[in-house]
Amino acid sequence: MAQRVQGTEDLYGGYMRAWQRMQDVARETFGVYGFSMIETPAIEQVATFVHGIGESTDVVRKEMFRVFSGALVESLLAKGSEEGLKAKQRLALRPEGTAGVVRAAVQNNLVPQGSAPAKLWYAGPMFRGERPQKGRLRQFHQVGVEWLGASDPASDAECIVMLMQFFERLGFDADSLRLTINSMGDAACRPAYREQVRSFILDHADQMCDDCLERAELNPLRAFDCKNPHCAEVMADAPLVPDHLCDECAAHYAQVKRYLDEAGVRYEEDPTLVRGLDYYTRTVFEVEVAGAGVGAIGGGGRYDGLMELEGGKPTPGLGFAVGFERIVLALQTQGVDLGASEEGCVYVACTPDVRASVFGTVLALRNAGVRTESDCQGRSLKSQFKQADKVGARLCVVLGTDEVAAGVATLRDMHTHEQEQVELSALAAIVAERMR
Ligand code: AMP
Repeated sequence: MAQRVQGTEDLYGGYMRAWQRMQDVARETFGVYGFSMIETPAIEQVATFVHGIGESTDVVRKEMFRVFSGALVESLLAKGSEEGLKAKQRLALRPEGTAGVVRAAVQNNLVPQGSAPAKLWYAGPMFRGERPQKGRLRQFHQVGVEWLGASDPASDAECIVMLMQFFERLGFDADSLRLTINSMGDAACRPAYREQVRSFILDHADQMCDDCLERAELNPLRAFDCKNPHCAEVMADAPLVPDHLCDECAAHYAQVKRYLDEAGVRYEEDPTLVRGLDYYTRTVFEVEVAGAGVGAIGGGGRYDGLMELEGGKPTPGLGFAVGFERIVLALQTQGVDLGASEEGCVYVACTPDVRASVFGTVLALRNAGVRTESDCQGRSLKSQFKQADKVGARLCVVLGTDEVAAGVATLRDMHTHEQEQVELSALAAIVAERMR
């Protein structure tokens, strides 16, 4: 039997309903804040991710799935190197959504100078070559938001408020959501802080793992995320970014917190929250669910330099992304089934001699907007009733010889088992009303 790729999933049935429900809640929640949907390609030039996410990040260095056309693979194998390839030949499956949306905003001039900000949200699959485990896939799905052209600290707070509302509308118990925030500084103050962390790691080189020593040169702040307990112990004494913010960044951070307080959002400050990607500036945030054991379900932050890195004019921006699969797992720990069926349907059952009458009845019901099922395998009446139960029918229309001759149908409520006779000519309208 053909197998799907490890770390990928098929979405169907309740799981697919959950993914659609999540997008519906996103559309409703983000729409109120003025966001509209954008869809960018799942495949982009590697340069788009290198400029945005940063060459030194794990995502770009180790996890990005590279894509080459068949003809190119042959020539690469023959040459044994990528050298000489043009930028448009170096492609990758998107590991995250932000870089592609920002690339699209630059290319399509979505934030013309002096115009209102672009408020965009997206939903779709992302790809990372990670070791698959619970809540960590190679193809997973994100819903995300990008707000381009907004610099005010109120926008950071609004973004976070909107994210927390989104989680609550999905069904999370508000008390279980743990929001952590931090400020990462900006181009004015982060380089000096980064250098301090680099020196700190090198001063403690004999106690740190090889990965952290490599990080010291490439991306020292990532050492705060190292899972090695010795490194964690050393990093507990490392300089913390909130103590090294410039005046502007400190003021921005203070204002964001004031707005969050005003909105009544509970948060914890985590001075070691650095997030993995290079593009973040100032505010960063992450959300976990207490007791769910799936890691962060979402996170984001401000990225004031990203539009420029993608070739646009200097434009502030911020956003977040949440992970569908982890949200479903976390909701399950709270007894919430995001993919629970809400619809219910009508089942039209018949005796074998009037099977031909079912066709028109089903058609009339569907034309009236009623979700309708009927037998298409020549089953007995008894087994049609069983099937009606199985598909979750709320009502069953029963057609027999006498009913069809008299121009009526028996309408049976599948919960109360009450039955009544209804004129066939009025059936669709009556059923549509009941199902509403
Ligand atoms: P990130 O872009 O890494 O901040 O990811 C944002 C969210 O996407 C995370 O909080 C997770 O919910 C989800 N996510 C990230 N990577 C994966 C993965 N490999 N598998 C499943 N979900 C993921």
